[in-house]
Amino acid sequence: NKITIAIDGVSSTGKSTIAKQIAKYLGYIYVDSGAMYRAVTLYAMQNGLITTNDFNVEALIYQLKNVEISFKYNEALGFAEVYLNGSNVERSIRTLEVSGFVSKVAAVSEVRQKLVAIQQQLGKDKGVVMDGRDIGTVVFPNAELKIFMTASAETRAQRRYKELTDRGDKITYESVLKNVQERDYLDSTRKDSPLIKADDAIEIDNSTLSLNEQFDKVLGLVKM
Ligand code: C5P
Repeated sequence: NKITIAIDGVSSTGKSTIAKQIAKYLGYIYVDSGAMYRAVTLYAMQNGLITTNDFNVEALIYQLKNVEISFKYNEALGFAEVYLNGSNVERSIRTLEVSGFVSKVAAVSEVRQKLVAIQQQLGKDKGVVMDGRDIGTVVFPNAELKIFMTASAETRAQRRYKELTDRGDKITYESVLKNVQERDYLDSTRKDSPLIKADDAIEIDNSTLSLNEQFDKVLGLVKM
């Protein structure tokens, strides 16, 4: 029997890496819910709704009906990439600029309502691994397996810094650490669906765990 697997936790814990591997192994679909919040943020930036000092929340809420988010499976990559109004934005949503604004966009209730509905639709037939912040608490409160991933902010920033510099982004470790800490704060203090561990979630601190160890640990918890 197929189940629903929710993987939540703070920013840059490597949730998506493990979620993708588990989905692939089980033949499940993987949904990156953070990519959806990032895509809405990119939309707002591209349409002048977010500038250095201003975020036009009203205009974003009004224009949400024009924001179409979808996923398309990429055979070569082995997972589904995110599309914004028909364009592949998988790479452009990962910049530090988008990361710097996404938690403010994710705090808008109308944005959450729209994305949660899409997420529930994507996972309605089970056989899904979804990662995010509120998957086990709000999107799929009845998920059969809930994981809550944590690691120290420094460990997470180090990993994200390596990932971004490896792909050629010109950034500093300090700016990445600052972003990770800011998002932790905004995500856990927002009014609507704040980041909290579900009562029945299993916490995994992966600061000192290799990817293989994390994979084995999560897979060991899957009971179908
Ligand atoms: O997972 P990722 O770090 O890409 O998510 C980007 C941001 O999107 C998070 O910092 C959070 O503000 C928001 N998010 C959310 N709820 C989710 C997934 C992501 O609020 N389920």
